[in-house]
Amino acid sequence: MAPLIRSRRSQTQPKVLVIGAGIGGLTAAALLAKRGYRVCVFEQALVPGGCASTFRRQGFTFDVGATQVAGLEPGGIHHHIFSELGLELPAAEECDPACAVFLPGETTPINVWRDPQQWQSERQQQFPGSEPFWQKLSELFNYSWRFQARQPVLPPRNLWDGWQLGNSLRPDTLLTVPYTFSTVGQLLKGYGLYGNRRLKTFLDLQLKLYSQVGADETALLYAATALGVSQAPQGLFHLQGSMQVLSNTLVKAIKQFGGQVFLGHTVEQIQMEDNRPRFVQVRHRKTDETWLEPADHVVANVTVQNLTALLGEQTPAGYQRRVDKLIPSSGAFVVYIGVDQAAIPEDCPPHLQFLYDYEGPIGENNSLFVSVSRPGDGRAPAGKATIVASSFTDVQAWQKCDDYGALKAEYERDAIAKLNQYFNLDPQHIIHVESGTPRTFARYTARHQGMVGGIGQRLSTFGPFGFATRTPMPKLWLVGDCVHPGEGTAGVSYGALTAVRQIDAMEK
Ligand SMILES: Cc1cc2nc3c(=O)[nH]c(=O)nc-3n(C[C@H](O)[C@H](O)[C@H](O)COP(=O)(O)OP(=O)(O)OC[C@H]3O[C@@H](n4cnc5c(N)ncnc54)[C@H](O)[C@@H]3O)c2cc1C
Repeated sequence: MAPLIRSRRSQTQPKVLVIGAGIGGLTAAALLAKRGYRVCVFEQALVPGGCASTFRRQGFTFDVGATQVAGLEPGGIHHHIFSELGLELPAAEECDPACAVFLPGETTPINVWRDPQQWQSERQQQFPGSEPFWQKLSELFNYSWRFQARQPVLPPRNLWDGWQLGNSLRPDTLLTVPYTFSTVGQLLKGYGLYGNRRLKTFLDLQLKLYSQVGADETALLYAATALGVSQAPQGLFHLQGSMQVLSNTLVKAIKQFGGQVFLGHTVEQIQMEDNRPRFVQVRHRKTDETWLEPADHVVANVTVQNLTALLGEQTPAGYQRRVDKLIPSSGAFVVYIGVDQAAIPEDCPPHLQFLYDYEGPIGENNSLFVSVSRPGDGRAPAGKATIVASSFTDVQAWQKCDDYGALKAEYERDAIAKLNQYFNLDPQHIIHVESGTPRTFARYTARHQGMVGGIGQRLSTFGPFGFATRTPMPKLWLVGDCVHPGEGTAGVSYGALTAVRQIDAMEK
């Protein structure tokens, strides 16, 4: 297949420069290379994958951020993209339960089962009287999922986008319209469930993972999709090997289709001419050499704040104002622990979420999202396991702190003490411990202030009201978790596909 594709490519084909080898950038690059474009990816880090990459220590492989993947099922976005690229899907195990959620003082978790009936029985037992609320969510999920499968372009920015959006609408999509301005909190109130502390807290915890904010702020239509994907026929998956498999496979595909990927190369500036990108300024991190690389299109796989920094004064004033008005996103504190298998309880699910105190915040170690490796899944040597626990944290506190080392050590001790309530983290079971903070993410993923997870899925920023892949500057595209449909490897892949379709439509 590759030689045939290469023979279609010539110097007259548009040249697309991709800034960043996160899943969004790599997906866009692979699809564009496959479609015959000249593609060149510049990645400042030494490994591809960004927040979905890995690092190795003492025989352990740790997923730095993302640990579970949606969209691998037939019809799912990764499945769609891997099929278009002619690639085999990475081996993966279904997560069942998708997550085991422990509320404060409880030793039996709320298991988010993959089987819809099993999940229905679980939630009826856990949250009696809440079924009409869940049925409404499930109804909205079904309409929204079918809509999304028809590949609407959101938010639309020109006639072509509007046409794609219009073509995706069906009578059942219109049934979601009255809920466009509702939050999950409002739906809870509508069903008289807002005062149900366990239910509200469970939703706050799960939604924070997917949308940066809790039930009171998360847009209902976004929440319906985010909460619904855990059940069959969709589902969450644990990749065999590590998360690195996803980006490595995409890099291989880019090269197979004649594209290039340069690691350790930072893009410092996008230079515009006549409101279009003409060059990017690249710095080779090792040699410090800099040069201008010409481009027909630029696909920026960065946060929207990073994009305006790369443009500097060339940023349109209105766009800059929108970015300046964004509510700051959270960062992540992550502790990576390599342990003896003896530290892991029998039948430990691969993903768990803990809240320790109802009165405390969702984040700052009062809640932890935990991923545990499975024997033989490629992350730990035989008889050992990895535990990766993350918590949302305020990035400003890490930027401004006087003694960064002390703060990091304090967070690490606190997280381990809390994890020790479920795992057996006696010192003799711990082989390796290391932590990542917003400063770490800022350094290794170059994300603005180390913020992660995009711009948040509030009413003012989700779907139709969010940032678009099509920027106000023709031929400059934004992909990644700041654009619709938002964070997660599945979300950013969808946004990348949208940008590729837009480029293709423009060039045809
Ligand atoms: C702790 C944590 C847990 C998570 N858990 C999950 C999960 O379980 N499942 C899930 O699906 N998602 C999860 N996510 C979210 C998911 O990882 C991200 O939404 C997704 O990977 C972001 O992809 P992206 O394409 O937006 O880019 P990023 O991952 O941000 O990658 C952007 C890339 O661009 C590079 N770059 C930036 N600026 C420049 C520049 N100027 N020049 C060159 N290169 C540059 C960076 O180095 C980086 O490699 C998690 C995130 C975190 C932080």
